[in-house]
Amino acid sequence: MNKIAVVGAGISGLSMANYLEKHSIDYHIYERRKKKDLAGHGFLIPQEGMNYLYEIIEPDLLFQHGRFLKKYIQYSHTGKILGEKKLGNVFAISRNSLINLLAQNISPEKITYEETVTPNDRQKGRLMLSNGTEIDAAIAIISDGSRSRIRRSLFKDETMKMVRESEVVNIIHDKEIADAIENDFIKFHHEEGGLTFGILKLSDNTVLWYSQFDNEKYMINECSVGNLKKYMLEIFKDWHPVVPSIIQKSDYKNVHLWCVYELEKLNSFYQDNIVFIGDAAHPLIPFTSQGVTSALKDSFILTKYLVEEDNIEQTFSRYETERKPEIEIHINNGRTLLDQFLLPLSQQTENMLPISYK
Ligand SMILES: Cc1cc2nc3c(=O)[nH]c(=O)nc-3n(C[C@H](O)[C@H](O)[C@H](O)COP(=O)(O)OP(=O)(O)OC[C@H]3O[C@@H](n4cnc5c(N)ncnc54)[C@H](O)[C@@H]3O)c2cc1C
Repeated sequence: MNKIAVVGAGISGLSMANYLEKHSIDYHIYERRKKKDLAGHGFLIPQEGMNYLYEIIEPDLLFQHGRFLKKYIQYSHTGKILGEKKLGNVFAISRNSLINLLAQNISPEKITYEETVTPNDRQKGRLMLSNGTEIDAAIAIISDGSRSRIRRSLFKDETMKMVRESEVVNIIHDKEIADAIENDFIKFHHEEGGLTFGILKLSDNTVLWYSQFDNEKYMINECSVGNLKKYMLEIFKDWHPVVPSIIQKSDYKNVHLWCVYELEKLNSFYQDNIVFIGDAAHPLIPFTSQGVTSALKDSFILTKYLVEEDNIEQTFSRYETERKPEIEIHINNGRTLLDQFLLPLSQQTENMLPISYK
């Protein structure tokens, strides 16, 4: 098979490369960031996603870098238990660890870092490297994330909108807090809705925390990193003491404020010799916890059809036909979870787990 270009080395681009590697299919990845520059914090990965990961990463190696969570415990903001549910093998892992594990199987000559790929504005469907040369590949697999510039250049009439939820995500290294939460996923909810604080353990002394804000009610998007801590301490001052204590003790150097976007309507997942995977094909809002699993599944299924089919159009069409209906379910579930989040707790009726299942 002729050469494949993969644009982006996030979870979807790197997992794609791992599956291609398994089938001895030639490829090259182009990635905008520096090799060591790993933004982002952590993921929840349901059992289905783990099964796709086991195909390309030794399970024991994975288990050394993350942990399975036992229970999801939902609290009111003052610490009253509202409910709990067993988590069936949901794995928590930092983004750095997962990216590093996926990158370890890729030989250095197959990946170019600090290379931003752009669409050629004069020739639709052609991709350029930063030195102005055109990428010469039979197939381009685009995994450049939810705000994909290449997707927008092909589907000019798409509508992306900001979601009414923003997230602050951070990691704290603190053994005492890590010991206290065991292997549970704990989430505090404001009684009036639109504000949560979640905590989960990534390792013996590392805890991931994230906070979800209704960005119409809270001015979170106007915060700079400099005043984020002060703003959060003010908002969370009357919450269960563990919450302000984590906010206070955290280092804000790597804190991330996430504005979430979604496509009003999904585009096709391909055009000519270009095919989209992961967030570039279908941004999913964080409530679903399905971004990584969907990225892995996209890569797995696209590889399967690349192996089975000779015809590119047939390959891409089978991939889209298999993947789109399931993605639409997660998009709808994500919207339901968002609607619930915005409601006062007393009016929330749906499944309390912060994960979308098919
Ligand atoms: C706040 C938040 C919390 C989340 N929590 C979870 C969770 O718990 N569980 C879960 O499964 N998912 C979660 N997700 C979703 C998950 O992060 C994504 O679905 C997943 O990372 C998708 O990976 P990706 O490779 O498609 O895109 P990305 O991770 O965005 O990777 C895109 C890559 O492409 C590179 N790139 C971009 N443009 C170019 C270019 N022009 N040329 C070359 N390279 C380029 C970027 O540098 C980047 O490395 C969360 C998302 C958010 C925002």
